[in-house]
Amino acid sequence: KQAAYAELRDVEPFTRCGTRIQVMINAGLRDDMAALSLVGADGIGLFRTEFQFLVSATLPQRERQTRLYRDVLEAAGDKPVIFRTVDIGGDKAVPYLDNENADADENPAMGWRALRLALEREGLMKAQARALLEAAAGKALYVMFPMVSEPWEFDAAKAVFDQQLAWLRSQKKMLPDEIRFGAMLEVPALAETLDLLLPKVSFISIGTNDLTQFLFAADRANPKLAERYDWLSPAILRFLKRIVLGTAGSGVDLAVCGEMGGRRLEALALLGIGFRRLSITPVAVGPIKELVRKVDLAEITAAMAGWLSSPPASLRTELQAWAEARGI
Ligand code: PEP
Ligand code: MG
Repeated sequence: KQAAYAELRDVEPFTRCGTRIQVMINAGLRDDMAALSLVGADGIGLFRTEFQFLVSATLPQRERQTRLYRDVLEAAGDKPVIFRTVDIGGDKAVPYLDNENADADENPAMGWRALRLALEREGLMKAQARALLEAAAGKALYVMFPMVSEPWEFDAAKAVFDQQLAWLRSQKKMLPDEIRFGAMLEVPALAETLDLLLPKVSFISIGTNDLTQFLFAADRANPKLAERYDWLSPAILRFLKRIVLGTAGSGVDLAVCGEMGGRRLEALALLGIGFRRLSITPVAVGPIKELVRKVDLAEITAAMAGWLSSPPASLRTELQAWAEARGI
């Protein structure tokens, strides 16, 4: 099986009906970059910049951040890298950043983390913005903000980048050739203001790990709750399909970057509700490419539409049987 996946490395994932599916990978360390060519992915759909912060005993200085981002971009070559600004705080606590809200965070996943923290600790956000802008001089830069709950937060975060960009320009520094900004959709509330967000962003990536824990009010880290919800539940899939429909025609690229996209049946369901771009864990690239090549989109789209309008007792069981019957 592994050998078969290795053969798929240089094969572009087209569906049986001829649609190109973008299969990207999630990364967070320099060492992860080797996976890009090893598995033959289309780029880094999620670079978790907080890894550098989490493995560091002290706040990573701007120069260290710049060095990392430069190395990452160099390793990626022509392939795009979407850098997510730091998602620290809450359950990803770092000791050197005194979190005066730590005691108040009874639900750290919903607490003072990610963009909420970064917008307040402006020095941290400014340093990261500058590091990214400098590292991407002469290249394309993709920046994504985590835990955006309302469109104004996206504006505020982008303003920090605009300010740093203006400064670099005034200093006649070399700038990125192109900069695109996007948001993670992982807080359910953001889906309700999607129409207001779309004109502002180039891309949206759905973080299904957080999104589903918030949708189901079920802690993603608690093993006791792992059986409490299924990524193939109508609630999740209907929610995701509404986002696909709401984004269609806007020109905004839409992806899923949660773990869900790296699982066979889940990926099949995502294709069936209209996703054409996934960012997944590197080991899943081979299996997902193999799956993509066996799928007829019209067929799975029709099947999913039926199941979502009148859900069977277990969508997972139905989907499994459907896939097996087609040798998928
Ligand atoms: C997510 O929430 O789905 C996601 C991709 O981000 P993280 O797992 O880093 O929270
Ligand atoms: Mg998340």
